[in-house]
Amino acid sequence: MFHALVHYHEVALKGRNRKFFEQRMVHHLRSALKNLKAIQVEALPGRIRISFPEEHLWQRIQETLTRTFGVTNFSFARSAPISLTSSDLTTLKDAIQRDIPSHPFKTFRVVTKRAEKRFPMTSMDIDREIGAHLCEQTGKRVDLTQPDVTVYIEVLKNEAYYAFNKESGPGGLPVGTGGKVLCLMSGGIDSPVAAYRMIKRGCRVVFVHFHGRPYLSRASEEKVRDLVTLLTSYQLSSTLYLVPFGEIQQQIVLGAPAPIRVVLYRRMMMRIAEELARQEEAWALVTGDSLGQVASQTPGNIQVVSEVTALPILRPLIGMDKIEITAQAQAIQSFETSIEPDQDCCTLFVPPHPNTRARLSDILKVEEGLDIVGMLKQGIEQVDCVNYAFPY
Ligand code: ATP
Ligand code: MG
Repeated sequence: MFHALVHYHEVALKGRNRKFFEQRMVHHLRSALKNLKAIQVEALPGRIRISFPEEHLWQRIQETLTRTFGVTNFSFARSAPISLTSSDLTTLKDAIQRDIPSHPFKTFRVVTKRAEKRFPMTSMDIDREIGAHLCEQTGKRVDLTQPDVTVYIEVLKNEAYYAFNKESGPGGLPVGTGGKVLCLMSGGIDSPVAAYRMIKRGCRVVFVHFHGRPYLSRASEEKVRDLVTLLTSYQLSSTLYLVPFGEIQQQIVLGAPAPIRVVLYRRMMMRIAEELARQEEAWALVTGDSLGQVASQTPGNIQVVSEVTALPILRPLIGMDKIEITAQAQAIQSFETSIEPDQDCCTLFVPPHPNTRARLSDILKVEEGLDIVGMLKQGIEQVDCVNYAFPY
């Protein structure tokens, strides 16, 4: 048997919730790896163990772990039996000596952690004894500060695990621990990054996209489908709501002066999103707004848009520069899709000089002349729903 030993950090800090966080992560890993046969995922004290029968499966497991939020680091490990009543390390020593990397190296160190404090030797004792054995048998030198190879040992109840690597995980919190949120996805650069950040903080993200059909092509919708597919690799299943918005926008255009249309579109999107969120039992809405980026994201307009819903609106990118957002979009590989040309529905009927400081009283007055309830109903009735699953 081979193992992946998975460590979490923030998760461990959650006191009495810890069990819940661990279970979410175990559940996530089981689902993500369900296509691989004979794999076992189990919570051990302070870590999660994935056991697998064939070495070549490591690559898939490694890929999965780099996309599993809550993981701080992980290693490819093997194990040797130990006993709590004896300090005999012979089997462990032999196993490590056999498996230590064969590539040329000069120096090494041993780092032991005891999850099982009843083991009769301290971590330092174990470091010293295994270190001395390896020096003697391999002729390599110990270097505690900059070794070529580190031997990681983790002592559990009946088993000691050893590994020669440690890889970083993505951090964050396990999917599902942050409840469900509904993200307004536009197909641009920002909203997929906003969704990613919320998934990383443990939320399960449901998506809604407002498209311009029948007035615009399908391009923005297809981009959003690709982006949701990409993001599903982090949360394993997703739902995307597609709302036809062209006719609603046309009604707004007919009843509202040009400079405030964008704010009215946004308020209408929020109302429809709020209703979908209630149906989904989502606790918040998410947008890719970044303060001051465009006319709809000025302090005044953000206020007027937020006023329309009682749900919290999360804006994880609010304090980020475009350059920072772009760098993150490139890192998660959403950027290429986001910059494909499309026609976002917000470009439809948009005036050249939108009002950057809409007054709520003006907005409310104009909305009195619009059939808000009818538009909301129309949006909800015409919604299309698509489900996604990963592994694809
Ligand atoms: P993005 O890169 O996410 O498109 P942006 O900089 O283009 O953002 P806006 O077009 O003003 O900014 O949109 C701000 C936010 O409003 C988006 O991040 C998204 O959350 C939401 N939004 C805008 N258009 C749509 C749409 N057609 N469908 C769903 N949400 C939208
Ligand atoms: Mg946009």
